[in-house]
Amino acid sequence: MNDTRHRVVVIGSGFGGLFGTKALRRSDVEVTMVAKTTHHLFQPLLYQVATGILSEGEIAPPTREILARQKNATVLLGEVTDIDLDGRTVTSHVLGRESVTPYDSLIVAAGAGQSYFGNDGFAEYAPGMKSVDDALELRGRIFGAFELAELGASRGEDVDHLLTFVVVGAGPTGVEMAGQIAELAHRTLRRDFRFINTRTARVVLIDAAAQVLPPFGAKLGASTKRELEKLGVEVLLGTMVTDVDERGLVLKHKDGRTERLEAVTKIWAAGVQGSELGRVLSEQTGAPLDRAGRIGVNPDLTLPGYPEVFVVGDMISLDNLPGVAQVAIQGAKYAAKTIDGRLTGRPPQKPFRYFDKGSMATISRFRAVAMIGSLRLTGFVAWLMWLAVHLVYITGFKNRVTAVLHWLVSFLGRGRAERTATEQQIFGRTALQRLEHGAADLVSPPDGDQVRRVEERRAELEAAAIEEARLTDARERGAHLGEPVSSG
Ligand SMILES: Cc1cc2nc3c(=O)[nH]c(=O)nc-3n(C[C@H](O)[C@H](O)[C@H](O)COP(=O)(O)OP(=O)(O)OC[C@H]3O[C@@H](n4cnc5c(N)ncnc54)[C@H](O)[C@@H]3O)c2cc1C
Repeated sequence: MNDTRHRVVVIGSGFGGLFGTKALRRSDVEVTMVAKTTHHLFQPLLYQVATGILSEGEIAPPTREILARQKNATVLLGEVTDIDLDGRTVTSHVLGRESVTPYDSLIVAAGAGQSYFGNDGFAEYAPGMKSVDDALELRGRIFGAFELAELGASRGEDVDHLLTFVVVGAGPTGVEMAGQIAELAHRTLRRDFRFINTRTARVVLIDAAAQVLPPFGAKLGASTKRELEKLGVEVLLGTMVTDVDERGLVLKHKDGRTERLEAVTKIWAAGVQGSELGRVLSEQTGAPLDRAGRIGVNPDLTLPGYPEVFVVGDMISLDNLPGVAQVAIQGAKYAAKTIDGRLTGRPPQKPFRYFDKGSMATISRFRAVAMIGSLRLTGFVAWLMWLAVHLVYITGFKNRVTAVLHWLVSFLGRGRAERTATEQQIFGRTALQRLEHGAADLVSPPDGDQVRRVEERRAELEAAAIEEARLTDARERGAHLGEPVSSG
């Protein structure tokens, strides 16, 4: 590390954090990326991890490995809990260890989490889809539901509630999840069970809005709905979820009717909430937060009164920009260019402008919808385009090769290469959440007692080693030294 160089801290290892850090690789700066996970997560393919197509490693390569050759970048594991804008420091924690990292420029790209619209208790019964943990837990729940149904059916029990899968939220994630669960039930698993007919499984997609995929417009929304219904997905629009518990959900339809749906497996894909760091920044700058907790930024992505602080990606509220990967990538590159320009004396850039490269969502194998400029594509052509784009953006050669192999297995064949779900994955997280300080409770704190214990142990080991050496040197090993032990 060169400590006279301009210090850039980047918060987050998602699309904004990674592309911002990489964009600074040729700049005369020291970059420290602080992120709460050790991987870069390709969120658009989380649904394929949850439904057994891809492994978590294929969509979440280690950030450290991606940045290994970028000499001016350092990766620091930790959850940022505070940003002191006047003191220009970022405070992060991991397992009770605190780090305070100073900066000259800061790029905040902490993304967004799941929103349950004020009903956070739903999370226990209807996990969201934001992290690798979420996807693995959902994988366990989905494949586990079929297992429990088989067990129940073998004893003659009613298993309809186990074979009903509900996806809440008909945006791209909800559509992709519903389509994949329908394919699992109707195609992939149909020969694997003896007591249940997986093809009788219900997959229900629910949304309060009047159409699916609203950002794709009315026409693509309607064609997606038809495709989903052909796959056997029941699409309930204009329907609100008012309660969720272990065995089901309560729905309120547009006509005022309420209904209880018995379903053990629920997936929440219905809303986002900007990172908590938005509030930390808003309190210090007066920048407004919108209803989804996203922070208003200047047109050059900086915060009012703090031109050295940039906020990018899902955290920001600017010009109605959507929460998509390209907004984060382009915003982060823009911020990096501004930082470099200031150091090299280039004139300021024009305000940030997002270049919309298009959007796409898959419905099932060989079927997708895509929107590029005024072009609207559906079916196989859109699916091929989806395949090409996702291959380009999956990070790392190794991951591209294995992803293609897994796609061949799942799309041309009928298999799912990644159906493993362990008990620890499913229940471990819940157990950790119950500990007062989470995983930190499982490691001893680095306190004075621990230091003393370590020193005592070291002294013991040193003494033992000295004695070992003495025994060898004095040829006392095996030598007959004392009185013979009496045999009786
Ligand atoms: C299931 C799903 C499917 C999607 N599909 C698509 C799609 O098909 N196309 C598309 O364009 N977009 C899609 N998106 C949206 C896209 O993934 C996001 O817009 C994009 O990831 C935003 O990038 P970001 O850098 O702002 O945040 P993220 O990529 O979410 O990165 C945030 C980073 O910050 C870290 N972090 C968060 N809080 C802290 C903290 N306090 N301290 C330290 N680190 C922290 C996180 O660990 C993460 O590394 C999808 C999103 C999801 C969830």
